[in-house]
Amino acid sequence: MRSHAKNVNYRVAERDFKYYIFDWDDNILHMPTRIHLEKRMPDGTWVPHSVSTAAFAVVRNDIEHFRAPAGVWDKAFSDFQDYDNENESRFLRDAREALEKVLSGATKPGPSFHTLRQTLVEGRLFAIVTARGHEPESLKKAVRLFIALVLTPDEKEEMLANLRGYRACFDGLTKFGSDEEELEYYLGLNRYHAVTNPSFKKWMADAAGAGAAAEKAKQFAVRDFVEHVSKIMSRTGDHEFRNPISVGFSDDDPGNVIAVEQYIQTELARKFPGIKFCVYDTSDPSLNNGRKVVVSGQLDLGLQS
Ligand SMILES: [Mg+2]
Repeated sequence: MRSHAKNVNYRVAERDFKYYIFDWDDNILHMPTRIHLEKRMPDGTWVPHSVSTAAFAVVRNDIEHFRAPAGVWDKAFSDFQDYDNENESRFLRDAREALEKVLSGATKPGPSFHTLRQTLVEGRLFAIVTARGHEPESLKKAVRLFIALVLTPDEKEEMLANLRGYRACFDGLTKFGSDEEELEYYLGLNRYHAVTNPSFKKWMADAAGAGAAAEKAKQFAVRDFVEHVSKIMSRTGDHEFRNPISVGFSDDDPGNVIAVEQYIQTELARKFPGIKFCVYDTSDPSLNNGRKVVVSGQLDLGLQS
């Protein structure tokens, strides 16, 4: 007979507080979702031409040869949205296909795939921040699928022991819910931001002013996560703050990396001087975990004229 005693890892209280913000496409997984563009032929006519997200990152600024269908970007990104008549989000379907390809060895995982896996096993807080336009629930379901397909049975058991440990140490729980309830509680604590989703755009416009530019969206989502984490931390009491807190951000788009780096330097490092920020540029697929840049409050001292 299997024992019904639940494993609880109380040692999570001694850990550092390391949290991650992940871009999804080409950072976690290479998704099969295509962007529908038009390509200019030598005779000057435009023909339909779909590209992967990785190829889009290369051709996006080549406006002489590539454009959205008749200039309408919503059409180019029609597969990056959820629709009312779907019984399953396109995102979940594409994530399943991408995960199966990784697990069969047909394609390489994204540079931050293993960091997400480790984050989940350790039960750490994280955020998914993507330029897609899906519902948060669709992103959450894809993370749940990641856990189901990628983590081994031992890793799932380890994750649940860590989750119960956090619940015991920080929420004072002595009795735990079912495995499913504890997993759902954990997934509910994390953030899932698709920054071109209509609800996200409205929320950002309400909070940051209607004129907030699209490129600010990732910065806004990053700030939301840091505020969210710091709120959870303050709930757990002062004595817990002896452990260092760090927040990592990984993205394969160099433009996003630079925008977030600058945002951390000019805003977040001042607002959260106790937090160490790390940015991982994963644009080079040959580098596992990407190129790490430490951007912390202390590094800024003396650099401002
Ligand atoms: Mg990406």
